[in-house]
Amino acid sequence: MNNSRPHVVIIGSGFGGLFAAKRLAGADVDITLVAKTTHHLFQPLLYQVATGILSPGEIAPATREILKEQENVRVLLSEVTGMDLEARTIRAEALGTTTELSYDHLIVAAGAGQSYFGNDHFAVYAPGMKSIDDALELRARIFGALEVAELTEDEQERERLLTFVVVGAGPTGVEMAGQIRELTSQTVKGEYRRIDPSKARVLLLDAADRVLPPFGERLSGKAKEKLEAIGVEVKLGAMVTGVDENGLDLKYSDERTERIEGGCKVWAAGVQASPLGRMIAEQSEAEVDRAGRLQVNKDCTVPGHPEVYVVGDMMSLDKLPGVAQVAIQTGQYAADRIIGDVTGKPVTRPFRYHDKGSMAVISKFGAVMKAGKVELTGFPAWVAWLALHLLYIVGFKAQFTTLVHWAIAFVGGARSERITTRQQMVARLAVQQLGEDFRPTVTGTQQPKKVEDKAEPTIG
Ligand SMILES: Cc1cc2nc3c(=O)[nH]c(=O)nc-3n(C[C@H](O)[C@H](O)[C@H](O)COP(=O)(O)OP(=O)(O)OC[C@H]3O[C@@H](n4cnc5c(N)ncnc54)[C@H](O)[C@@H]3O)c2cc1C
Repeated sequence: MNNSRPHVVIIGSGFGGLFAAKRLAGADVDITLVAKTTHHLFQPLLYQVATGILSPGEIAPATREILKEQENVRVLLSEVTGMDLEARTIRAEALGTTTELSYDHLIVAAGAGQSYFGNDHFAVYAPGMKSIDDALELRARIFGALEVAELTEDEQERERLLTFVVVGAGPTGVEMAGQIRELTSQTVKGEYRRIDPSKARVLLLDAADRVLPPFGERLSGKAKEKLEAIGVEVKLGAMVTGVDENGLDLKYSDERTERIEGGCKVWAAGVQASPLGRMIAEQSEAEVDRAGRLQVNKDCTVPGHPEVYVVGDMMSLDKLPGVAQVAIQTGQYAADRIIGDVTGKPVTRPFRYHDKGSMAVISKFGAVMKAGKVELTGFPAWVAWLALHLLYIVGFKAQFTTLVHWAIAFVGGARSERITTRQQMVARLAVQQLGEDFRPTVTGTQQPKKVEDKAEPTIG
């Protein structure tokens, strides 16, 4: 590091943060990339980790490894817990170590978490899907439900355990429901003696009246048809009003109510931007919207702070969607502006988004894709999906093993990543029970808070 060069701090190693850092390769700056995980996560394929197709390493390469040739970057594992926009400093914490960093330019790309629309207690029974931990917990719950169903003597309980419910019919929910259906009806065929997993119910619920609303009416209709053809029950206009260990309560747009008894529940319904957005808003003239996204200027900067950029999922600008391409392009744009400042050739054009389209996989060899006026369905859309996702997986090693795992899953019908552990299933809730004072360190832990009410882990 060269102390006389401008210091760029980037928060986040997701699409926004990583692509900003890469764009600054060769620039006359020192970069510190701070992220609360040591990997770059390809979130669009999390559902394949959750359903046993891919391993975590294939979609989450080490950030250090990706950036090892780029000498102007230092990668730090730490969670940013404080910011002072006036003093231009951030505070970050990891495993008992606190770090203070000062910056000349700051790019905040901390993404978004799951939103339960004010019902955070639903999370206990219906985990979301935002991280590797989430995907592994869901994998343990999906395969665990089948195991307990094989064990139980109670017919009603067996039926409940063989009911899988996915909430949210966006791309993640559609892909997840499609994969659980394939897993139960094909992957585990012939492996159980008492239960017939192909008789499992897989439900996909959404309060909206269509699946995949941004894809337009025609593709939404095709996607719903295909889901139903493979045996997914799609319930639309269905708002979830309650989630508990045993199932969910629904209220339909026509006021009808319904109770669904279900074992494994997956929440793929809403997003809430990183709390860092609110922290920035409190120290600036910027505002946050209902989803906690920070309203930025046309150049992705924070009002009153031209040295601070907010990009990707946690930014609100021109109603842009929370998708990977927006994060990549805004991250690269912020980097270009910093290069412009450093070289004395300022970038004055506002950020302009180039929409490259969207796609969702429904089943083996079946997908929908929309790019401008081009709409594809079925096998051609699936091939386009395969090629594009392979292209964006980082590193040849991961691309190669992903291709092998896809061949095993899509051609052979098996899945190579079915390992689940007790810790994967219960660790999130166990850590929650230890309370906010629980501070893990690498050599052990500080004294955890006394746990008053110990709950037994269950699949529900
Ligand atoms: C299951 C799923 C499926 C998706 N499918 C698609 C799809 O098919 N197509 C598509 O275009 N988009 C898809 N998306 C959306 C896409 O992944 C996001 O839009 C994109 O990841 C946003 O990039 P980002 O850099 O803003 O945030 P993220 O990629 O979420 O990265 C945030 C980074 O910030 C770090 N971080 C967060 N808080 C802190 C903190 N306090 N301190 C330090 N570091 C912090 C995180 O560790 C992470 O490294 C999907 C998302 C999910 C969850």
